[in-house]
Amino acid sequence: MVPSVTVGARGEARLRGGHLWVYRADVQEARAAAGDVVSVVGPHGRPIGWALYSDRSQIALRLLAGSDRPADLTLWRERLQAALAFRASLAIDATAYRLVHGEADGLPSLVIDRYADCLVVQALSQGVDRLLPALVPVLVELTGARGVLARNDPRVRLLEGLDRRVELLYGDVPERVDVREGAVVYEADLWRGQKTGLFLDQRENRTAAAAYARGRLLDCFTYHGGFALQLAPRCDEAIAVDISEEAVRRTAANADRNGLSRVRALAANVFDELRRREQAGERFDMVVLDPPAFAKNKAAVPRALSGYREINLRALKLLDPGGYLVTCSCSYNIDEALFGRILLEAALDARARVTVVEHRRQARDHPVLLGMPETAYLKCLILRKIE
Ligand code: SAH
Repeated sequence: MVPSVTVGARGEARLRGGHLWVYRADVQEARAAAGDVVSVVGPHGRPIGWALYSDRSQIALRLLAGSDRPADLTLWRERLQAALAFRASLAIDATAYRLVHGEADGLPSLVIDRYADCLVVQALSQGVDRLLPALVPVLVELTGARGVLARNDPRVRLLEGLDRRVELLYGDVPERVDVREGAVVYEADLWRGQKTGLFLDQRENRTAAAAYARGRLLDCFTYHGGFALQLAPRCDEAIAVDISEEAVRRTAANADRNGLSRVRALAANVFDELRRREQAGERFDMVVLDPPAFAKNKAAVPRALSGYREINLRALKLLDPGGYLVTCSCSYNIDEALFGRILLEAALDARARVTVVEHRRQARDHPVLLGMPETAYLKCLILRKIE
């Protein structure tokens, strides 16, 4: 018998409204096991489509397709091909980018990043975790990858009752992989780096920010030098700050490797560093703020807001009139409107008049699915302090 799940009216409305998830509270009956591909049925027995079922997560169903076609391996192959073709059409000037961005590619809870000839995959639900062995050969065939690594260590896997592990699924993936982003070459650590190795979602924002870079740059939360390395060629001086000694070592090594002697990498807490430089009366022409998600859940929002307010206030004070603030938030729980309000509060406190030069999101290889706000998480505003 085909596994099936009956959803209530609210669940059905959600799916018909363009969302791909049904929460546990909206499931009426489940005749399915963990990770099954199930037939989804509405409260009056009307078929809705096919979905991945999780027996643990609050997200019980992730819709794959309507009921007019089977959700078999052919569907996965077609969706993978479409995702790859879209990335190829973007003519990305980099050898590291996202090939598959889950829900927005019709491949819910599957993430695939390309780093030169290696692939890094993440299976973020029971369903994809189970399908992964069947997907790997298809991926290798479609991409010609030399190695496929599973970075199945994100915390969200625990919500699915899945373990956290990193394992080689195919071929070989070296300890360090050289990738290029525009003119900058990075040594990416796919086995141990954050996320799948680099913050690929900021690639286009780094390029956009470079257009305004000049004079003195302060790149806060630099990780392996992301913004600093792209912007430094246009600046007289670039100071890159991260709290992690390891990240700072890598930033310095990347700067050396790219012949960017203007980059100075420092290990410090950004909150202290901004305050210290403000007290010392320093001035900058550009400040970049790319912090980790301060609000990982709803309960963390109030504290996160004061964190964002604080760093943006300090950064605005450090800018000379005419200077630029590139300010980001990757907290899904803080939407664009709320982030905008925090930035206004920071500007008022800093007695700065500020214009919005660019209002950006995650790079195009991380698409947003209309009808699914969860897929729009990264905000990046390029602001100009006019006085
Ligand atoms: N801008 C980077 C990505 C930043 S990720 C890029 O373009 O690639 C966020 C970084 O912030 C991590 O490297 C983390 O080590 C660092 N971090 C977190 N809290 C910090 C703090 N209080 N002070 C300084 N760095 C911090």
